[in-house]
Amino acid sequence: MIGSKAVRAAFREYYFKQKLVEAPNNIEQREFGYAQFGIPGMVRHLSFKGAGELTATLVREVPSDVYCSNALYRFPTLPMQEKQWQGADLIFDIDGKDLHLSCVPSHSYPICSNCGHASPTLEKEYACPACGGKKADYVSIPCAKCIEGSKKEAARLVEFLSGDLGIAKENIRLYFSGNNGFHFHICDDSYRPLDSQARSDLVGYLAGVGLIAESVGVRRSPGSDLAFVKFPRSGLDYGWRKRVAETLDIGASSTIRLTNIVKEKGGYSAFKAELDRITRQMGVRIDPQVTTDVHRVFRLPGTLNSKSGLTKLRCDIARLESFDPFADACQLGSTKVKVKMKTHAKARLKGQTFNIAKEEAELPAFAAVYFMCKGLAEAA
Ligand SMILES: [Zn+2]
Ligand SMILES: [Zn+2]
Repeated sequence: MIGSKAVRAAFREYYFKQKLVEAPNNIEQREFGYAQFGIPGMVRHLSFKGAGELTATLVREVPSDVYCSNALYRFPTLPMQEKQWQGADLIFDIDGKDLHLSCVPSHSYPICSNCGHASPTLEKEYACPACGGKKADYVSIPCAKCIEGSKKEAARLVEFLSGDLGIAKENIRLYFSGNNGFHFHICDDSYRPLDSQARSDLVGYLAGVGLIAESVGVRRSPGSDLAFVKFPRSGLDYGWRKRVAETLDIGASSTIRLTNIVKEKGGYSAFKAELDRITRQMGVRIDPQVTTDVHRVFRLPGTLNSKSGLTKLRCDIARLESFDPFADACQLGSTKVKVKMKTHAKARLKGQTFNIAKEEAELPAFAAVYFMCKGLAEAA
């Protein structure tokens, strides 16, 4: 938990100038929550009558993190059972750490769970140089590859949402999460009534889980593991069917190629397993918990993320490729702040590389806050 005055001061200045915070639609029906610097837990069940009241609270309280429900309630400030749920916007979370990229260990820093000592990136087994502790939490400073990875995933989700589900692109709001991933807010009222199970089915579809072999025309011969191919009458040219048909290079005009593939794999069950492997690989890696929870409070667009000091920032889908979160979402000021580095660390922010080897450094606020939020520096 960051309790530093310098971090709080930078957050205060941000909220005071405030131009990026997005008040949600139907604001008076939303539940808000926030976390405070140096205090564990979250203040929840708040509600605001309008954008003015919300922003005034941010300036007054200077929260470390701000959240808003995707759900609409009749009585947002009452306990959960009495709120009277009226529906919830569809949301998605793509977290870079779920992509398990091979570059991550090279920019992860162990922080001792016992004494908080930070160490440089690790090559061998962890032992705290200060207290000998063997347990550490790892903080990662995402690299360009990490960001490319989550951008690719986000682009894939856009394609599924607009292509397969037919959601208009202007209703798909994409945000950098403020740390290492992307958030989606779908502004389409027709999804609001969906319950948790329906959202879970949707997650399964997007993740490529549970596509049945029959949907691409592979059927089991009665009483055996043999299969025969009969293409579905509705064709192979949309959604998952199209993706699988393209991957396996099968055309809808002849069943010969698919019949041979099934034979090669060794029958119905083996093909089914192969199909499952293919679709999971092509599916989108989204956090299922975020999407299926219809009572969640989700980071409010335009607010700061205390894991980094970066902004949860709207990102134009058409410009996703050139979007640079470490420049665009780095919105804190440049007043000089003295920090004590807990370890040698490196980050690239606002186009400048900060490769800090010495113990004491004077950095622009945005960089100082970044390292402090990561737990790699403290105020000097
Ligand atoms: Zn230690
Ligand atoms: Zn990386």
